[in-house]
Amino acid sequence: MTSPVAELADDRFARRGLRLFLKRDDLIHPELPGNKWRKLKHNLGPAREHGTVLTFGGAYSNHVRATAAAGRIFGFATIGVIRGEEHQPLNESLAQAERMGMRLTYLDRASYRRKHEPGVIAALRRKWGDFYLLPEGGSNALAVRGCEELGGEVPGYDVVCCPCGTGGTLAGLAAGLGAGQRALGFSVLKGGFMDGEVERLQRETYGGRRGAWRVEGGFHFGGYARRTPELDGFIGDFAERHGIVLDRIYTAKMMFGVLALAERGEFPDGTRILAVITG
Ligand SMILES: *Cc1c(COP(=O)(O)O)cnc(C)c1O
Repeated sequence: MTSPVAELADDRFARRGLRLFLKRDDLIHPELPGNKWRKLKHNLGPAREHGTVLTFGGAYSNHVRATAAAGRIFGFATIGVIRGEEHQPLNESLAQAERMGMRLTYLDRASYRRKHEPGVIAALRRKWGDFYLLPEGGSNALAVRGCEELGGEVPGYDVVCCPCGTGGTLAGLAAGLGAGQRALGFSVLKGGFMDGEVERLQRETYGGRRGAWRVEGGFHFGGYARRTPELDGFIGDFAERHGIVLDRIYTAKMMFGVLALAERGEFPDGTRILAVITG
């Protein structure tokens, strides 16, 4: 299924000769929205074969919750390995995951950093039995393939923007674009490692770099899940102008960045910009 595109009437873009469109991937599915659906889609087959999926995430991870929903809808068991200590009562995100049948377990931060190492995974297998492993954020080669389809759905736009958490969405999106189109990712994490992650995922999926893409690193607002009064103000103003409430972890940082780059004159007159509302 493809998600709708709508042009946004916003004078801050119009007066610079730019056109801005939103692709509403957030409307794809109520429980499996946006890029989480795209990233899970091709992983559902192996998940059902194994019968159980184990994955990783922070306590507010959209990916963990989407995996729980996918397990309930498509009929496989799910285990969520959460970073840090258990806090009771569970926050709404984890409570929802548990209601959908996910079993939750916790890894201290030091072990969590080593979560993809064979020793840590072997210990998880001893505890939980056989499972299909989805990496943090769900970003593996099959996820990148799912996001490649997003690139194929957006011909005619010059620049296609998305937020980056693990970089899987950008890796696939860029690979799926046509000639003359470029992808622009906005990292929501600080540290400047996102380029390397996108490259690594493209290498894993395609054997090398694909498509024209760049990561913009200047709009993380302090790091993952960090917020500032400026960002909160932007979200409120955007909701007032357009009736769309941007998610503060991802899409708000992207939209803030798109506008800032437009104001800096980054896009030539006449550029058609598409921003993907990933969730
Ligand atoms: C998970 C998520 C992202 C990050 O996608 P990556 O493929 O990990 O870069 C972006 N936007 C939203 C809304 C998300 O939930």
